[in-house]
Amino acid sequence: MCATNTQLSTYLMTLSQIKELCTKHNITINGDHITFDKNTSNFQITTNFKLHEFLTKNTKDTTTIINLNIVLELQKLRTLFGSPVRISSSYRSPAYNKSVNGATSSQHVLGNALDTFPVNGDIKGWTTTVVKNKKTGGIGQYQTFVHIDTGRTRFWRG
Ligand SMILES: [Zn+2]
Repeated sequence: MCATNTQLSTYLMTLSQIKELCTKHNITINGDHITFDKNTSNFQITTNFKLHEFLTKNTKDTTTIINLNIVLELQKLRTLFGSPVRISSSYRSPAYNKSVNGATSSQHVLGNALDTFPVNGDIKGWTTTVVKNKKTGGIGQYQTFVHIDTGRTRFWRG
């Protein structure tokens, strides 16, 4: 079942609310970005996501920087999709980004991007949900995941 936008607005967290929650959990906030690592205590940061789901996938790096706007956007899209979504790539340090052949100017390096996929395997449905409902920022459509970011509004197929 998909939630309507009217229902959404009644229970989705605002930016100030998520910042307040992070402050309560002693998370470092810089502007709209939070900084944390695997030793930071895990907690439910939005309805369907725990903080540690946003950790960098590079085990050598302990620090993760992530934009709370993309966290909130992922939750909104996941609610509209109505089924669990996982993150395959989050923050990338410049060195890690290079090692995975990421674009030099990748929004992942800025902590503004997430690569996401549906647990139920319905990549077509997830892509449609993202394309229909994400009005600003970047969307990259790939075979097995969808890239979303808070950068310039653009669309590409990978
Ligand atoms: Zn990406």
